[in-house]
Amino acid sequence: MPSNVNVKSPSLESLQEATSLIQAGELVAFPTETVYGLGADATSDDAVTKIFAAKGRPSFNPLIVHLPDIETAKKYVEFNEKSIKLASLFWPGALTMVLPRKKNCPISKLASAGLDTLAVRIPANALALELLKQCGRPLAAPSANPSGQISPTRAEHVADGLGDKVGLILDGEACKIGVESTIVGFSGEDVVLLRPGGVTREQLEAACPSVTSPSADSKITSPGMLLSHYAPSCPVRLNANSKDADEAFLGFGREFDAISTVNLSVIGDLREATANLFSAFHLLDEQGYKSIAVAPIPEMGLGVAINDRLRRAAAPRD
Ligand code: AMP
Ligand code: MG
Repeated sequence: MPSNVNVKSPSLESLQEATSLIQAGELVAFPTETVYGLGADATSDDAVTKIFAAKGRPSFNPLIVHLPDIETAKKYVEFNEKSIKLASLFWPGALTMVLPRKKNCPISKLASAGLDTLAVRIPANALALELLKQCGRPLAAPSANPSGQISPTRAEHVADGLGDKVGLILDGEACKIGVESTIVGFSGEDVVLLRPGGVTREQLEAACPSVTSPSADSKITSPGMLLSHYAPSCPVRLNANSKDADEAFLGFGREFDAISTVNLSVIGDLREATANLFSAFHLLDEQGYKSIAVAPIPEMGLGVAINDRLRRAAAPRD
C-alpha cells in the first residue's frame, strides 16, 4: 500500500472530513453493501472527471449515482409505475435502475456518458447513507478499483488499488453482499435485466412478471458491460474439476474442499460464496499463481451474478 493513503474508521470527524472533501469536489471511497464505491459530487463535471481519471475508466461507461432516499431520486429522474414498485420493494438495496433524466436534471452529463438516462440507487449501508445525507450531494460512485480490475470489498483493497488517488477511504465493514448491484432498465412493459447482481432475477420476477434480457436491437443498452472486467492479473479457467501444477483452485462446496486453495463456501451456499468472491480473487492474485481454476457454480439465484463476473474475469483481455 502506498504510504500517503488516508484511511479512516467511521467517526464524526472522518464523516466531516469526507463531507468537506466531497463538497470541495474531491474523491472519497466509501463502503456499500455491494462493493466499495469511489464517490464524488455527481453535480460537478470536474469531480466526475476525477472519478474517470482515477480509475482509468473509459468515458463512454456511465456511472451509478447514489442517493439517500426516493424523494431525492425523484428530483433527478422520472419514475413510472414499475420503477416505483421496484424502488419500494428493493430500496435501500442492491438494485440500480436506469431511468430517464428529468428535464434540467443537474447531475453532470458525464455521469450519464452523454445518454438521456441516469442509473440511480439507494445503498443499504448505514455509513453510505450517513455520508449521502451529511454531504447533501448525489454521489456518482463506481466501484473503487482501477478500471477492469477486481472490485473492492474491503477498505484495504481500495488502498492497494487506488490508494493515493483518493482523498479519503472510509473504512467500514467488509461488504455484506460482495458483488455489484443488479442493473435494470425499462422498455414498454418489460423490466430489462442489464447486469445480474445482488438482487436476483427470481426476486425481480416475483415482483414483475416480464423480466427480459436486452436484445441486440433493444433501445436500452448498457454501454459499460465490457467483456473483460473484474479480472485478476493471471488467467482464469472456469468449470474446472481439478487443478494443474502452479494453479490456484477456487472451490465451491464440500466436493472440492480437498483441492481448494480457497473455498468460496464449503457448504455450497451462494450468498456466502458471493460475499467471498472478490476477496478470494484479491488474495489469490497477490500470491503469484500461474492461473486460477474455478469450480462450477450453479446458474441460479446469486450464482448468476457470480458466473457473470467469472466469465468476464476469464474473457480474453484487450
Ligand atoms: P459500475 O461500474 O458498477 O458503476 O456500474 C455502472 C454500469 O451501469 C455501467 O457500466 C453501465 O453498464 C450501467 N449504466 C449506468 N448508467 C447507465 C445508463 N444511463 N444506461 C445504461 N446503462 C447504464
Ligand atoms: Mg466496477
